[in-house]
Amino acid sequence: MIDIKSLTREDLEKILFKEGFPKFSPIQVFTWIYRKRVEDFSKMTDLSKKLRKYLSENFYFSRLELKERKISLDTTEKFLFKLKDNSLIETVLIPEGKRNTLCISTQVGCKYKCKFCVSGLRGFKRNLEAPEIINQFLEVEDLISPEKITNIVFMGIGEPLDNFENLIRAIKIFMDNKGIYLGKRKICISTVGITPKIKKLIELSLGVKLSLSLHSAISEKRTKIIPVDKKYPLSEVLTALGEFVKKEKFPVTFEYILIKGFNSSREDAQELVNLSKKIKCKINLIPYNPSPYFDWQPPSEQEVGDFKKILKKEGVFFTLRRPRGKDIEAACGQLRARFL
Ligand code: SF4
Repeated sequence: MIDIKSLTREDLEKILFKEGFPKFSPIQVFTWIYRKRVEDFSKMTDLSKKLRKYLSENFYFSRLELKERKISLDTTEKFLFKLKDNSLIETVLIPEGKRNTLCISTQVGCKYKCKFCVSGLRGFKRNLEAPEIINQFLEVEDLISPEKITNIVFMGIGEPLDNFENLIRAIKIFMDNKGIYLGKRKICISTVGITPKIKKLIELSLGVKLSLSLHSAISEKRTKIIPVDKKYPLSEVLTALGEFVKKEKFPVTFEYILIKGFNSSREDAQELVNLSKKIKCKINLIPYNPSPYFDWQPPSEQEVGDFKKILKKEGVFFTLRRPRGKDIEAACGQLRARFL
């Protein structure tokens, strides 16, 4: 038996074509699953009896089990899901005006052990399968109905580019115009900078957005909190991102968590300015959100103000994002860590 949500429409087309079913059948099946949200082949009434029988004998629908749902005072919502092997993952919904952004996990745990991220603390267990990625979207949209998810960011637990095949498969399903039909610019992949995979992404030219966990424009400093910078040095990552911008004709985003006494000085701001002049980009500044798992401290208002002033004076395009969901352990991996 195959999990039907592991297939792109193209995959399903190949299978059904081989079995002699009409060319339009995969479109009908995709519409039932991803538009009408029906997960029972016998209820797909415009399919032939023969096709319904074939589908129910060969395919099944997977679901996630909701373990906990927490709603923050600032309306951020966090969902803890249990997978079939009892692993736990988190998904976060961030409502902002008319936008509902879903932050999706791509792995159980993470092997990169960034020094500010709870997700890496317990190591890596496994990659999520494509249906486990898609089901985060479907489950949350069911729970918040009639509200809809408008944007997704792969910024939850795990490094998305490290689970490349399943990530791309899920993105193709999210973007399918007979299914969920999310626009390419409504999807953002956030990476710590896995250079070979960024190059693979450029080859595919999907049109999705890309953001880099930068956190310091000085490579030697960045290595201290993002150890994988040693393997994929910032200079190489930036070259790959430059190619991405050229191909996609769209700026990349740099995520920059401001940490007191580490990367929030005037010199750090100037280095960030220099870097931003080399590549078409937008910068997201995020004051560090204290966590019981690390000793880092958030910057003072004065430090944030001075940092912003330097960026502004140099004409750098940036936004200041306040950490959301402080009261519901919304920082990546925190809720899962408490359960474990
Ligand atoms: S920031 Fe991303 S890559 Fe780094 S440990 Fe956390 S999940 Fe992994």
